[in-house]
Amino acid sequence: MIAHHDQHHRACVARLNDALVDYPRLAELGLVKMLALLPQIPMPAATRAAIWENGGGHANHTMFWSVMGGRGGAPRDKLARSIDRDFGSFEALRLKFNGAALAHAGDGWVFLTIDRTGALAVTTRENERSPWMDGEAVLFGNDLWRHAYAAKYQNRRADYLAAWWNVLNWPAIESRYALAILGNLAA
Ligand code: MN
Repeated sequence: MIAHHDQHHRACVARLNDALVDYPRLAELGLVKMLALLPQIPMPAATRAAIWENGGGHANHTMFWSVMGGRGGAPRDKLARSIDRDFGSFEALRLKFNGAALAHAGDGWVFLTIDRTGALAVTTRENERSPWMDGEAVLFGNDLWRHAYAAKYQNRRADYLAAWWNVLNWPAIESRYALAILGNLAA
């Protein structure tokens, strides 16, 4: 996790800052608005691709660190009720989330998102693409790149997926949910 943060995430931030040198007003928007508005801003294709990939990587990893460091367990209150409404149960969500993660070939991410109608959904993305680019809020997500788990789990992605739930910080995720409903999540 230290290498993941200090090497992979750090490199994303450095490359994003380099790509944004000539676009200070875009940088000031913050990650979520930047990713949503990027397709409409005139710029060279290579610059757009660099902001897309590294801005997505910065958003994905910022979210990733914010939802871990807890003791697992289960969500409570409003989030628990919304999960029951949209998946039937927390266990059903967990099965669907891990199933989507295992079915995703290669590098990428699995997310729990909130769509424009407020419904929760499980979705995956390639590489460092982010649901924020598609107008969906990210409640939490897991990194499926080999760099996220190979050091400890080698190629055993299923074992990593199972263990990850034990370090989720549900109070932090519940706070993200409250902010997302207000449209105030920053990444
Ligand atoms: Mn990563």
